[in-house]
Amino acid sequence: MSQAALKAEQAIGHDNNATTVQDVTNPDLYPGAAGEGKMKALAWMGKNKVEMVEVSKPKIMEPRDVILKITGSTVCGSDLHLLHGTVVELQKGDILGHEFCGIVDEVGSEVTKLKKGQRVVASFQIACGDCYYCKQKLSSQCEKTNSNTIENAMYGGRTAGMFGYSHFTGGFAGGQSEYTRVPYGDVNLLPLPDNVPDEKGLYLSDVLATSWHAVVDTGVKKGDVVAIWGAGPIGQMAADFSLINGASRVIMIDQNWRLEYVKKKYPHIETIDFTALGKGESVTSKLKEMCNNRGPDVSIECAAGEYAKGWAHYFEMMLGLETDTSELVNEMITSTRNFGRCGITGVYVGFTNHFNIGSLMERGIRLIGNGQAPVHLYWESLLKMIQDGQIDPLKMVSHRVSIDDLDKVYYKFENKEDGMQKVFVETKFSAPPCEGSPQLTRY
Ligand code: NAD
Ligand code: ZN
Ligand code: ZN
Repeated sequence: MSQAALKAEQAIGHDNNATTVQDVTNPDLYPGAAGEGKMKALAWMGKNKVEMVEVSKPKIMEPRDVILKITGSTVCGSDLHLLHGTVVELQKGDILGHEFCGIVDEVGSEVTKLKKGQRVVASFQIACGDCYYCKQKLSSQCEKTNSNTIENAMYGGRTAGMFGYSHFTGGFAGGQSEYTRVPYGDVNLLPLPDNVPDEKGLYLSDVLATSWHAVVDTGVKKGDVVAIWGAGPIGQMAADFSLINGASRVIMIDQNWRLEYVKKKYPHIETIDFTALGKGESVTSKLKEMCNNRGPDVSIECAAGEYAKGWAHYFEMMLGLETDTSELVNEMITSTRNFGRCGITGVYVGFTNHFNIGSLMERGIRLIGNGQAPVHLYWESLLKMIQDGQIDPLKMVSHRVSIDDLDKVYYKFENKEDGMQKVFVETKFSAPPCEGSPQLTRY
């Protein structure tokens, strides 16, 4: 389906709304994109396969471009959806990675706010800074950086272009590499002050903004009881942020190995292991029992639509009858108290069956698609919170790894081996580990 969508896109052709070049997912695959010299990068090589490759460095293609020398990147839960080919329209050789920071190496002639040598973090989405959505800082929905026709037809509208996130979102090379080209550099790079090391600033790219958005967009208020599905980095930070936003209790739902990490790092958070429920128990019945027989006020999905729980959805997805399971969303709807709120931040790609629309309607559940998070709306205030010590991104970082091992790290991250969750990926340009950072592990 993924490859068919790519072929269809190539046959139909893009729309003409984009103001930056599309399908530059690898400097060697696009004429005129290759600069002088070589670099290491992680490329998607087919379903469930990634590989470290040597490719040409990118070069300035448009006057507002910045070439960034990468000093830190990471692997996101979304990279697993790309690895699995769940996100459609990947092409062999696409360079991945949408969370990265680095040092400005070259600037185009129209870049005014940045200089060579400046330390910056990139937002995972590419925004023009000037369209209807960008003017409101809703950068993830920029109208000028992605001209994919299939996405527009399927969704009735488009998202912004995104780094390392397939041709479905414009086709841009990502930052799991030694250099990256950043279109509209002035808009999509945020300078990092000296008192915020890369190991903390990096996560402004995505996970911090995404988790914060999940909490405020779903509407966590003072005193709310919040349930969160998925205790990965996004879920953990959403839990932390819910408490900062005044929640009285947070309950996380996931499995053993992840919940062990949560219990160690966040002892004030309650947990439900969905694989260890008693006979006749369900996540919904457990949550009712824990929350006055009504259920939580707010529920947030931080897992993803590709993770089926039962055989029915597993087979329906395998047979192409749906792209995403409705099990987690149904569980949220039935668990949440009447007139409560549910937000979906975990990635859902297309269509789902057996959706419990009855419970949603009859009990007045407010179901909110949180969207790809608009990083630009939050990253300045989140940076300030890091500076003030209000949030510590290092809490979720389990490993520091080398870009040379990144293909192996993907599989370890996928299988959660060695308790791996959020990693910091260093390159030869990185500074030594900051205080509180894990030491380098080589594979
Ligand atoms: P992750 O893969 O590290 O964590 C996902 C967690 O969900 C895992 O711990 C897994 O065990 C758990 N899970 C799977 N099935 C479950 C179930 N049935 N019930 C409860 N938990 C279940 O991913 P992450 O980096 O924390 O990201 C979480 C999700 O957020 C991913 O889908 C990612 O793509 C998405 N995401 C969205 C945005 C956005 O802007 N909306 C940005 C970044 C990431
Ligand atoms: Zn991400
Ligand atoms: Zn825009």
